[in-house]
Amino acid sequence: MRARISLTCFLLFASGYGAALAKPQIVPPSAQAFKLGSLQVFALRDANNVLDNDGKVFGVGVGPDAVARVLKDAGAPTDEVTLSVDGLLVKAADRVMLFDTGLGPSVKGALMASLTQTGVAPDEVTDVMITHSHGDHVGGLATAEGGLAFPKATIRMSAPEWAWMQAQPNSQALAKIIAPKVQTFEPGATVLPGVTSIALPGHTPGHAGFEIVSGSDKLIDIGDTAHSSIVSLAEPDWAIAYDNDKDEGESTRRATLKRLAEDHSLIFAPHFPFPGIGRIETAGDHFSWKPETP
Ligand SMILES: [Zn+2]
Repeated sequence: MRARISLTCFLLFASGYGAALAKPQIVPPSAQAFKLGSLQVFALRDANNVLDNDGKVFGVGVGPDAVARVLKDAGAPTDEVTLSVDGLLVKAADRVMLFDTGLGPSVKGALMASLTQTGVAPDEVTDVMITHSHGDHVGGLATAEGGLAFPKATIRMSAPEWAWMQAQPNSQALAKIIAPKVQTFEPGATVLPGVTSIALPGHTPGHAGFEIVSGSDKLIDIGDTAHSSIVSLAEPDWAIAYDNDKDEGESTRRATLKRLAEDHSLIFAPHFPFPGIGRIETAGDHFSWKPETP
């Protein structure tokens, strides 16, 4: 029981994510299937994170009224910002890859039930790719009892992210659990055949996206380059409290969004409205989100 309580505490406050600022909301499980070349891909629903529009996370330095104006222009509620929390499952001929693991059992995330809908059992996942070590991406790596949620999977994250995770006091319990399974890569390196990492520093020191390629099809998991499909795209230069290095986060966000829009890339954004698949478009000096039903 003691182990369970301490693990729960760790999951809630993992990695300085500032979970206290977000109210997790339980959602029904869902798996949205689509094809990418010869790969079978599923967006996996986990939870919502609801944030009060109080200037503490979005609009740091500009205040809630400015954020409310952006939300109102988009026809969204102005008193709060709702972020989806989702993962991505990619089934190849010889591998089953999960990209991020959601909030995990401490907040009753639906990711495991969503995974069940794909017909994949947790011990069939061969690789878990981690964009970064915040609790809404790594919380699902451990079970409520403190075991490995995907016992046979190699856990792959960038070398700077793994070093940073192990140095964060609130991440050490989870780091100990997953350490035997972690294999690191250098940001920008090919991680597995058809999966190349993209260095996206700023949100965290080793934050990485992933480019997934099959034949002529390509999907880019942008991780937490942008959090809100409304605010982060309309005002990419606004600091967000979740970015560990706010200046670097802003420059990475703007440069990445610009490139994705120019390339007309199909992306997966884990915090955009489920299933988080679509494209970034340029709109004057900022950007907008064009969701696609895969
Ligand atoms: Zn996140």
